[in-house]
Amino acid sequence: MNEVLLIDSLKRLCYTIVSSSDKLIFYSAFPPQRWHGTGMVQTVTEPDLRYRPLRRERMRCVVALALDGTPLTVPLEIICGAADGPRLAVIAGVHGDELEGVRAVQTVSTVIDQQRLNGTVLLIPVANMAAFTARMRRSPLDGVDLNRVFPGRPDGTISERLAYLMVQTLLADATLVVSLHGLGALGMLLPWMEFVDTPGPVGQASRAAALAFGFPDLMPLPLLPGVLIAALAQRGIPAIEGEIGGMGMIDPANWRRYVTGVMQVMRHLRMIADPPVYVAEPRYWELRWVHAPAGGLFERQFAPGDRVICGEELGTIIDPFGEPIDSIVAPCDGVAGACQMVASVHPGDPVALVWSPSQPRHV
Ligand SMILES: [Zn+2]
Repeated sequence: MNEVLLIDSLKRLCYTIVSSSDKLIFYSAFPPQRWHGTGMVQTVTEPDLRYRPLRRERMRCVVALALDGTPLTVPLEIICGAADGPRLAVIAGVHGDELEGVRAVQTVSTVIDQQRLNGTVLLIPVANMAAFTARMRRSPLDGVDLNRVFPGRPDGTISERLAYLMVQTLLADATLVVSLHGLGALGMLLPWMEFVDTPGPVGQASRAAALAFGFPDLMPLPLLPGVLIAALAQRGIPAIEGEIGGMGMIDPANWRRYVTGVMQVMRHLRMIADPPVYVAEPRYWELRWVHAPAGGLFERQFAPGDRVICGEELGTIIDPFGEPIDSIVAPCDGVAGACQMVASVHPGDPVALVWSPSQPRHV
């Protein structure tokens, strides 16, 4: 057992850390932060996520100690209804520069009426706090894209440990997981919802949740390695992943659609008594990204929502002397679903996305 006292620049005791072999026990010497004047935000290593009638609690869950000695934590809120029931987890900020989901999760916390709620809602507004702080997609602590390393490793890099904590502890008992994304700081996309397209009850429950969420454009996905919803599906947990907005903004027109979608999913799970509503005429697509063949200025000739045909020119790459050096064409017929808005592009940047008509294979 080793005990370490960390002292900050004002010579205050910050943390007491007790470690024994691979187990880390963490205490904060600071008084817990208050919220709403009704509770405390505790920093914990082993979060208590059990149902208790009308429980509402916020906490920060320790992932690991970072290089600077401070703990990387995941903020989470547990909201329990008057009766026990399904467990819905809603996550945002897996990528640190996708912010509309973050604002949506924060708002869901304010609109849930616990007296009318059956079951438990677990909210994680910012899953990847290091990437969020750096305003980046990836964690600056290890350069890892969190949504490529699920289910993670207990002895891996700090992002892999975060992924492991999420799958093994925070989300392990979920009835359904909803993960909210966007297009980061450089681009903009039309809303869509992804679900795991696998045979059997997990795929069926994922598709049903996607139809309940309310976005008419749906992407059936196979079990992609490292992606959260695939790692959950492999553990028997249905999961969906939404996309909306971008440009590092929190546009109310976008995040309110996410809030509405989460509440619709709660109806679908019978967590609130209002009858569920489902997308009547879903459109199924697969994603075809187009990458810049060269660096330069991208003179875009389309906008999200445009219909495009295979081979149609979507834009031109211009070199520093103003000469056009390459063009970008649509790889298939479909709808332009996203684009890079910032005109300066690196070789290989994903500059356009075409939605190609598709159908679920298994559900
Ligand atoms: Zn994302």
